[in-house]
Amino acid sequence: QSIPVITIDGPSGAGKGTVCRLLAQRLGWEILDSGAIYRVLALASIHHQVDPSDEESLIPLAAHLDVQFQSTDNSSQIILEGEEVTLSIRNEEVGGVASKIASLPRVREALLRRQRAFKQLPGLIADGRDMGTVVFPDAEVKVFLTASAEERADRRFKELKEKGHDVKIGDLLNDIKARDERDTNRSVAPMVAAEGAICIDSTTVSAQEVYEQLIQVIEKTF
Ligand code: C5P
Repeated sequence: QSIPVITIDGPSGAGKGTVCRLLAQRLGWEILDSGAIYRVLALASIHHQVDPSDEESLIPLAAHLDVQFQSTDNSSQIILEGEEVTLSIRNEEVGGVASKIASLPRVREALLRRQRAFKQLPGLIADGRDMGTVVFPDAEVKVFLTASAEERADRRFKELKEKGHDVKIGDLLNDIKARDERDTNRSVAPMVAAEGAICIDSTTVSAQEVYEQLIQVIEKTF
């Protein structure tokens, strides 16, 4: 029996996470948050004091990464080397290191098998940058979700403010632009829409509306 896959690629802040959660709830499928894998590796590299450009040292770290994704119906936890890192991988520093590490071809390669292992019945929703192009090129439905950098910075700003963080919108916008630039222009697995992907711009559209648009296509496909 073939295992169905839906890929959702695009930059951070475009609403991929919310759209994936809504789809997973509706379909009863698992989610692969591939960005979290890059973030966990970034945190591991910080813990082990490995430089983000030191590919030779990062490869074994990636290959033997001791990480567990535990999820129940209403919560999910990420455990790195026995320590809960669900929230700590989400900060800007870890995101920046993740994006540097993610430009190294052999590090990406070392993480491929781990990502593909998420493909299990009844189906998978894969969230990332290269899910439709590299990791699951045979996916039945591919989506590329974007939004303007300004809108994404604004969403991130509100999210961080709500959590009580003191941040400047200009700094967030600069970070987002730098990360987009790295993700789009790297030589391996750059962030581009896969062939045949449904491209959606969520700048003026909520994640709920994107979900409603997608579920119509998905229900026709499966
Ligand atoms: O999506 P998220 O912001 O959590 O991803 C963190 C970083 O990991 C991204 O900036 C990107 O550089 C990298 N990444 C990637 N390929 C993926 C997922 C994430 O290169 N499939």
